[in-house]
Amino acid sequence: MSAKLLKMPETAKLYEGKAKILYNTDNPQILLTCYKDDATAFNAQKRGQIKGKGEINCTVSAALFTWLESLDIPTHYLDCPAPNQMRVKAVTIIPIEVVVRNIAAGSLCRQTGLPEGKVLPSPLVEFYLKNDELGDPLLTRDRLFLLDIVSPEQLAVIEEITLKINKHLQEFFTSCQITLVDFKLEFGLDSEQRILLADEISPDTCRLWDQTETDPQARVMDKDRFRKDLGQVESAYQQVQARVLARIKELI
Ligand code: 5GP
Repeated sequence: MSAKLLKMPETAKLYEGKAKILYNTDNPQILLTCYKDDATAFNAQKRGQIKGKGEINCTVSAALFTWLESLDIPTHYLDCPAPNQMRVKAVTIIPIEVVVRNIAAGSLCRQTGLPEGKVLPSPLVEFYLKNDELGDPLLTRDRLFLLDIVSPEQLAVIEEITLKINKHLQEFFTSCQITLVDFKLEFGLDSEQRILLADEISPDTCRLWDQTETDPQARVMDKDRFRKDLGQVESAYQQVQARVLARIKELI
């Protein structure tokens, strides 16, 4: 994280995660998120830095949140006081990672034997428990209800919003000549119990394949470059940022 951009008192720190630090602000309804260059993979067993990642993930997320808001998807996004800082509405995070898959990759291939790159007949929506100690296990619907994480009504809303986001993002990334393979979303509840899209949408949380490349390694534009030691991580993130911001400018 670039220290010059942020001078927050240590007392304001609410939570430090692997990729972001969350700060309280003077307004209890608003939090400040500071995106870091720190990168982790495999439940933090692999650690490193991706230079410029904090700013890229913050600006890409801000642009996508702004655009999704314009399409009636409620998000926690407010504004960015600096390139790696985002002010967000204070929400209680629902402790599940919602993963959407359009093409088989990653843990889906490892756990099912499906070949990487297989186009799925329809988007697959999965729920993982947000719990590092347990290794973010895949949950069934019954386990979600057993753990009292969400009500059936809340889950229906989350699924509906998630599929809408997937449709919008698939079209959006295709217009950037990028294939949206899969991605992870998080949701939160505001003070009125409304479900808002939270966290981030960035090359850290999406699998993105460059449609202008055919080579299976050269096409990777996301955190898999870091996970798999493919090199040129920074330039891939920069390329995503450049294409996303250019397209957003045309749309809003
Ligand atoms: P997989 O289950 O294949 O490892 O991940 C599926 C998708 O969700 C990928 O795009 C991956 O980046 C994203 N994802 C799943 N869990 C996490 C997580 O804990 N952190 C981040 N940054 N992304 C995740």
